[in-house]
Amino acid sequence: MSKTNKIELITLGCSKNTVDSERLMSQLKANNFEFVDSSDDADSIIINTCGFIDAAKEESVNTILEAIELKKQGKIKKVVVAGCLSERYMDDLKKEIPDVDSFFGTEKYEEIVKDFGGQFSYDLLGERLVTTPKHYAYLKISEGCDNPCSFCAIPLMRGGHVSKPMDMLLDEASRLADKGVKELIIIGQDTTDYGKDISGKRNLSELLERLSNLKGIEWIRLLYAYPSHFPDDVIDTLANNPKVLKYVDMPLQHISDNVLKSMRRGITKRRTKELLYKLKEQVPGITLRTTFISGYPAETEKDFLELCDFVKDIQFDRFGVFNYSVEENTPSYILSDPISADEKEARRAELMKIQSEISLEKNRNYVGKTMNCIVDDIENDFYIARSERDAPEVDGEVLIKAENKLLKLGEFYPIEIIDCNEYDLFGKIK
Ligand code: SF4
Repeated sequence: MSKTNKIELITLGCSKNTVDSERLMSQLKANNFEFVDSSDDADSIIINTCGFIDAAKEESVNTILEAIELKKQGKIKKVVVAGCLSERYMDDLKKEIPDVDSFFGTEKYEEIVKDFGGQFSYDLLGERLVTTPKHYAYLKISEGCDNPCSFCAIPLMRGGHVSKPMDMLLDEASRLADKGVKELIIIGQDTTDYGKDISGKRNLSELLERLSNLKGIEWIRLLYAYPSHFPDDVIDTLANNPKVLKYVDMPLQHISDNVLKSMRRGITKRRTKELLYKLKEQVPGITLRTTFISGYPAETEKDFLELCDFVKDIQFDRFGVFNYSVEENTPSYILSDPISADEKEARRAELMKIQSEISLEKNRNYVGKTMNCIVDDIENDFYIARSERDAPEVDGEVLIKAENKLLKLGEFYPIEIIDCNEYDLFGKIK
């Protein structure tokens, strides 16, 4: 069987890269290219890279080198590198890995299609080849970021904040709904900034309301909110629109005023707590997810203990911690990297330990309750489902023993929770 026109597209990094890959795939598919899951069946490999922090950069470079090795062995003909890493380090990569056939930055769909000898189609702009389970999809509502966070290289790779026009997003979302998508996961670098560059004011809540009117869309989940300008009307939408899940992912990065100031987060400890209390009060039962950085250069032992007290006080439902990665050309680069890798890891582990105890307590509250869950997959005699509290890939799951009951993937079911551990819930069909 000939391998011509068969591409393995490897997507690294975040869900925004997933959306970029899906957009590129629909264009290449329209030019008779086929996508395969393994390089064994491929003629070409496209790597959509991540350039966020050291670990991600390393993974991207290793993936490129593996593809080049296959090319040297004559197993594949073409290697194309795109995305954040090549946006940020294109000249270095061209010098260091000359065997790559072509390098592209972020969102260079037209150039890549032409590089494969194809025709780019503007009619397909809202079209995506969904790579997530068919019943949920990410909706990237903006690109880039205007926030000045001192540690972050994303604006260097993705530029300033650009909202995607609302009618284009509604078109994209309704095409996804037509394909069976029931859950839309709203992403961007800063979703709360949506609309300010188009209509002069932030109108994320209007977008959420209009998306919730689309036929077939049942769940809308908000990720990547920014604390310093969280719109009040979004809180109303979270509280009152049954299709907009009572769930917010809002990376806070830290809480001590000393560190928040050095990080240029544009918010204080007092205002952060006010916002969190307001969300909890006005949206009862809300699920709060956040992210912190451990070992930021200006973080003292006292700052770290303050952060530990804060997470014990607020009781987040979900959080992740990244160890600080010193990134050239970011404002905090001049602070160097005074906290050792071991110390960063020790602080990260301490925070995760505190959180696992909180998470277990919170999960215990759901035992005996019935939750509306969507079934994502089946694995080792268990159906993998998620409740309103669980974003895919980053949060816990609801596991249901696949006894003799046949559950359909992508369908909602009332699940009675019978047990839990610190991350997952165990349930049975009600
Ligand atoms: S909000 Fe801050 S951390 Fe997030 S992408 Fe923008 S600059 Fe980076």
